[in-house]
Amino acid sequence: MNQPLILIIEDEEALRRFLVPTLSGQGYQVLCAATATEGLAMARSHNPDLVLLDLGLPDLDGMAVLADLRGWSQKPVVILSARNQERHKIQALDQGADDYLAKPFGAGELLARIRVALRHRLPADAPEPVLHSGSLQVDLARREVHQDGQLVKLTILEYRLVEALARRNGKVATHTQLLTEVWGPGGKGNTHYLRIYMAMLRKKLEADPTRPRHFMTEPNVGYRLELDGTH
Ligand code: CA
Repeated sequence: MNQPLILIIEDEEALRRFLVPTLSGQGYQVLCAATATEGLAMARSHNPDLVLLDLGLPDLDGMAVLADLRGWSQKPVVILSARNQERHKIQALDQGADDYLAKPFGAGELLARIRVALRHRLPADAPEPVLHSGSLQVDLARREVHQDGQLVKLTILEYRLVEALARRNGKVATHTQLLTEVWGPGGKGNTHYLRIYMAMLRKKLEADPTRPRHFMTEPNVGYRLELDGTH
């Protein structure tokens, strides 16, 4: 059977020593590169199903690697970011990375992120699925949201926000991405819209809005709709 091939581009040897057995232990095929140049060459020669990309590489900025990859491939890219790379992490997500892991991270978190990233983003014109997040159901065809089997009335903007998150199929969405998708180009920068609407959504859809189970906050980055089957 053909297991997904994961390319790791990471210069920290200790981290590679953790990543390789963790991933191969789950049946993934694994390739490693310690520099951007080597990583890009391997990406081109092996066309991996997913790339784990460190942003701080010795020879070239990880952002440049991402831009190169996105020039010819839409395969998922998960960013490995250090704590002090907050701004770059958001930039990477806005420029086409699929998700991120903040160092240090554990094996469980790594594998969950990879499973989510390997799921496809739902294209705007795809057959419309029903997505499940515990007791919450998002029906993209009917544009309906049910909680515990009960239809929940949402405003147009609230629904658009749910839909923008749902279409990412469990992946994180940045503030900028959500603001432009829900409010249009004029929404950019108005992070307070998101805070207000997220609070309203959680009030309607979370059992305990202070401890969300569905609409998760990614601190300083954005939000994610937690879907079943990714943990
Ligand atoms: Ca590094």
